[in-house]
This record gives sequence, structure tokens and C-alpha cells, in this order.
Amino acid sequence: MFIEVKNLSKNYGNQPAVHDLNFRIEVGQIVGFLGPNGAGKSTTLKMLLGLVQPTSGSITIGGKDPHEQEIALKKQIGYLAENNPLYPEMYVREFLAFIGNIHQIQYPDKRIQEVIEWVGLEKEAHKKIQALSKGYQQRVGIALAILHDPPILILDEPTSGLDPNQRDEIRNLIKSLQKDRIILFSSHILSEVEAICDRVLLIHQGKLVSDSPMKEIKDLEQFFKEKTS
Ligand code: ADP
Repeated sequence: MFIEVKNLSKNYGNQPAVHDLNFRIEVGQIVGFLGPNGAGKSTTLKMLLGLVQPTSGSITIGGKDPHEQEIALKKQIGYLAENNPLYPEMYVREFLAFIGNIHQIQYPDKRIQEVIEWVGLEKEAHKKIQALSKGYQQRVGIALAILHDPPILILDEPTSGLDPNQRDEIRNLIKSLQKDRIILFSSHILSEVEAICDRVLLIHQGKLVSDSPMKEIKDLEQFFKEKTS
């Protein structure tokens, strides 16, 4: 499994938002997607999700199974949106069943139970989403993203608004999802990126200004400032 982005560009009218991006991500990597506000991160993620059409260039999702190419991009990607929009009035298990039905997952009861245990929601699964703490709501968002067992996870600011303990828990959860998956996540919390990413893609003014293994970056904050100021 891999994601390959070639010469990817997006203009909104005359304004370039993303310019000539090239990168390839292999399975098993957690990649931090960083850049200042307005750099083009959301536009790139939206193109990967098939929500925005590129002006030029290509996105290829490849795998062992040649038929995977033909499966809609959406089926291969699990997405945790920045503000994790959920249905607060629904019960956790009911909500997962509702989304599982949309994905037409096989053996939904078994899969939902599996995912609930995986993300640590056993004690909260009978509650309404609005009754959960922010940390548990994030777990529901992650459960939702992995429900259809996608090989690719895109997580937009997965720990924003969490306290340090909740942040640690969500980090560990993300790490546990790494095997056999590609995880691309954006965050402004650089210490977190340092803690969990194998690699950093840094974009500035729509262009990729760095693609580096995390272990080669000594001080991410300093590195970020140097590359984007
Ligand atoms: P980031 O997610 O890194 O903050 P964005 O991808 O949201 O960056 O934005 C990149 C650039 O594209 C910005 O200059 C932004 O104003 C512009 N942009 C984003 N979405 C639109 C849109 N729908 N129409 C016009 N310009 C947009």
C-alpha cells in the first residue's frame, strides 16, 4: 500500500493554493503534515479525500490487490475532521451502527464491538455522545474513522482541545493503529509530531519545503521557523 502524489497543484481562481507537490508514503509510516496557516494543508488533504478536484497532477493509491485501484478513494481512507463533527444526540453504539450501515460493513455488530474495545470505549458505549468528555468524543471520532478498516487514516488536529492526559491516550491510540496502515496527520502541536511521527512533510505557500525523517530533525520548532519564515 502506498500513496503517491505527483505534480499536484490546485488554484482557486487565479490564486494558487497548492503548487507542484510530490511525495510518496509507504504503509507503516506515521507522517506529520505541517505548515503555517494558509500553507495549503487542508486543500491537499481535501484533494486526497476526493472532496476537491486538483487543477493538475495526480494522486495514486496502490496496494497488493490490483482491484484496490478501482475501489473509491473514500473506501480506502478513514478521516477524522478537525472539529470532529458528531451527532451529539445519538448513543455511541447507535452512531457507529448508523455509519457502519452507510459503509455497508460486513458483520456490523462484531466489527463495532471490536472497534469499541480497540479505542477503549467499552464503558461509554451505552451513553449519548454529548455526555462524553472531549477525550472520549475524540475516541468516537477515531472509531468512526477506522470502522470500515481503511488502510489510510487522515487525522486533522486529532488532539486539539484535549488535556495532557487525554492527549497521551490519543497519541498511544494513534500509534497502535500504525501497523499495516498509512497515517497522515496535521497538527500545530510540534512536540506531539516529534513524539509520534516517523517523517515530516512541511509545506509553505503551497510548496513542499521539506520532506525529512523525524530522527534527522533536532529541534522541530526551530526547523519549522527556518523553513517557513
Ligand atoms: P491551510 O490548511 O494550510 O491553512 P488552506 O489549504 O486552507 O491552508 O489554504 C491555502 C490557500 O488557499 C490560502 O491562501 C487560502 O486562503 C486559499 N483557499 C483555501 N480554500 C479556498 C477556497 N475555497 N476558495 C478560495 N481560496 C481558498
